[in-house]
Amino acid sequence: MLVMILFICPGPVNGQKKTDEGYLGKAELNKPKKTAFDYLNNPETVDNYGHISDSIWSFAELGMQEFRSSAILIRTLENEGFTVEKGLAGMPTCFVATWGSGKPSIGILGEYDALPMISQKALTPVKSPVVEGGPGHGCGHNLMGTAGIAAAIAVKRSMEEHKIPGTIVFFGSPAEETVTSRPFMVKAGLFNDIDAVIDNHASTGFGTGYGVDGTAIISAIFTFKGKTAHSAGAPWSGRSALDGVELMNVSTNFLREHLFYTYRMHYVITEGGEAPNVVPDKASVWYYVRNTDERLEEMFERVKDCARGAALASGTTLDTIRVITAIHQKHSNKGLAETIQRNIELVGMPVWSEKENEFAKALQKELKQKEKGYADSVNPLRKPPVTQVGGGSTDVGEVTLVAPTATLNFPGGVPGMTGHHWSAVASYYGSAAWKGLNAGAKVMAGTAIDLFTNPDLLKKIREEFAAYSKDHPYKSFLPEGTKPPVEFNKELMDKFRAALNDVEN
Ligand SMILES: [Zn+2]
Repeated sequence: MLVMILFICPGPVNGQKKTDEGYLGKAELNKPKKTAFDYLNNPETVDNYGHISDSIWSFAELGMQEFRSSAILIRTLENEGFTVEKGLAGMPTCFVATWGSGKPSIGILGEYDALPMISQKALTPVKSPVVEGGPGHGCGHNLMGTAGIAAAIAVKRSMEEHKIPGTIVFFGSPAEETVTSRPFMVKAGLFNDIDAVIDNHASTGFGTGYGVDGTAIISAIFTFKGKTAHSAGAPWSGRSALDGVELMNVSTNFLREHLFYTYRMHYVITEGGEAPNVVPDKASVWYYVRNTDERLEEMFERVKDCARGAALASGTTLDTIRVITAIHQKHSNKGLAETIQRNIELVGMPVWSEKENEFAKALQKELKQKEKGYADSVNPLRKPPVTQVGGGSTDVGEVTLVAPTATLNFPGGVPGMTGHHWSAVASYYGSAAWKGLNAGAKVMAGTAIDLFTNPDLLKKIREEFAAYSKDHPYKSFLPEGTKPPVEFNKELMDKFRAALNDVEN
């Protein structure tokens, strides 16, 4: 472990001009908020959560295999008096931690899964894996689960001290990188009594936004069955399942021309036979079919038609279409995003040390980016994009349709780094990442306290949500009976776990 010297931002530092569009002014620093911030500002607290985040970074557990990562978060919450229900919605690493009782009920989301293949040594500005080919935290989820529990605990302490009624709930959400857990968590009714949800994501900037963005997605594995034969001796008596897969891919690639431009579509062949001289009798291809909420199901039907046509042409059968997950676009609540923004203005950008900026500049140099160090001012409130042009997906989208939700992006990453890449893994560790985590926790705690202590604000947010829900009623895209893919990443994680444990960072 690297031991880092820590410097905590003493107060708001805000480089943003008040005339900027999107500037909403600062949230009030009332007594309950001060209690929460005092707790989070305490050097011991900063150290504690920093080490939790760095530990999760070191475990680098892939989605559905986050056993040690969830355990450390659960232990911390239980030590603070939270009631934790584990193994929820059919997923061993999914949990919900609750403190308090009655209304309002405010939720905070947190993730903790890593990404495959991008292992990298912490704070090292050149590519250098901890374990060759191993997993790494290239999306900062180590910071996010930790920031979420830090905020929940800070809020609980404030509620206790100031006798604020209500319930604070932390949602431990596995496998975000495969956008898997939330549709099952929503289906299990975990968000049924929640009045508003604060989501968080690590970033290079400090900001939030509202409206619809990203793409909805159906993730599905198509498996073809054929007949083995000697590929040279009697190929005529075989039927290649791989032909089925290949013809399906040819068809979907022709389909692209006639899809509305909001789509994204990509696949990997997960199973394609063992040897060229045996006609493969089984082959599978894993598709991500993405589009807007409105166009997703129709597009998926057309992709299924491509699979059916390929089976017919290759003389194989389309054995199964296994839907892994299916999620909506993100529909963020404006009133909640504005509340988060006001708290961002209150907390302000952390102050980065010279040593931290030295690392950032070295990494920027290596990546051929502008050598400017960490970001020095917060972002204005982000408006929804005017035109929907595709892009990534998050299963937070699912939550946004069952409760008013908005996402806080907190800093700590190096501007110019690439997400899901070794450069992001290198950044999401140590003192600068800790400062980002801490600033993020403060904004979430401040936002939650505003919702607990200002009934009119929460009412307005709920009214916005109710009006929106009328036009966008929730309906799961998951086929009836779909089970979460809990076996995912087990083999990979079993392979790397011992090697990762042996390494000193
Ligand atoms: Zn992420």
